Amino acid sequence: MKFFFLFIVLSFSSVVWAQQKKVCFSIDDLPVVAYGMNDTSFQKDITEKLIASFTRNHISAIGFVIAKKLFNDTLKNPFQISLVERWINCGLDIGNHTYSHPDYNSVSLKEYTDDLLKGEVIIKEILERKGRHIKYFRHPFLHTGNTKLKADSLSNFLAQHGSTIAPVTIDTDDYFFAVAYQRARMKNDTALYRRIGRDYLVYMEKKILFYEYQAQALFGRNIRQILLVHASWLNSEYMDSLALLYTSHGYTFISMEKALEDTVYQTPVTVYGKWGISWLDRWALSRGKQKDFFKGDPAPPEYVMKLTK
Ligand SMILES: [Zn+2]
Repeated sequence: MKFFFLFIVLSFSSVVWAQQKKVCFSIDDLPVVAYGMNDTSFQKDITEKLIASFTRNHISAIGFVIAKKLFNDTLKNPFQISLVERWINCGLDIGNHTYSHPDYNSVSLKEYTDDLLKGEVIIKEILERKGRHIKYFRHPFLHTGNTKLKADSLSNFLAQHGSTIAPVTIDTDDYFFAVAYQRARMKNDTALYRRIGRDYLVYMEKKILFYEYQAQALFGRNIRQILLVHASWLNSEYMDSLALLYTSHGYTFISMEKALEDTVYQTPVTVYGKWGISWLDRWALSRGKQKDFFKGDPAPPEYVMKLTK
């Protein structure tokens, strides 16, 4: 009887293990996406709220820094640098998101990699002061090269340079909600910004389900997902709720390194376009999936889109 019980427990736990859902939270456009709000206490508040939530929820988040934001023209901006240092001091990771956020669809490889290397200098410095090393690179707009030649030449450059590409599988339009939310808050329209916050969570939950479905349809299993959101006021207010959303769907939080251990990230991408889409969509297109496959991708509500105009 005991053995039988043990067998049940073991087989149950192996099923659970196989189905474990894991997600890495990645946050773009550090230090802060302020939409023109230069007030330092406002920006510090966003940073501290994000970090506090990651700590509280045991999220090994990684932030991708736009290095230009750490300068006033050519002079270093100690305040902006201190915001990024807070991430490191709290045990979080940071990666390179270029110097000036160029669009690889409209600049040459040389211009793009010059900008990327320029951005890396200060991010490397910040990490190395804490005995850490730079590892990850995130493409602005998720534009990785709209032709095979452009995509291959950039990925070869990154590989030779020792940079690991940080893909995204859960790609969202969180920035539309963030703009609408900030505008509503600036107008002190409490009912409106709370409504935007609630609808943001509804939308983000639909996105989880959508990309889980895509992973199942393509690979027949849960993959280690990588979420992308931005360092906005909205996310600083809703990070606890987002964390809860993921845990309530059975997720645990992992680092970028752990996420990339999933063999799914070795799946080749063999199609190229101007798009800045989820890697799940790239893999689907590479496998010849047609329009139907992408049906049901959640979109922000109409009123949110109107508020961003
Ligand atoms: Zn970006």
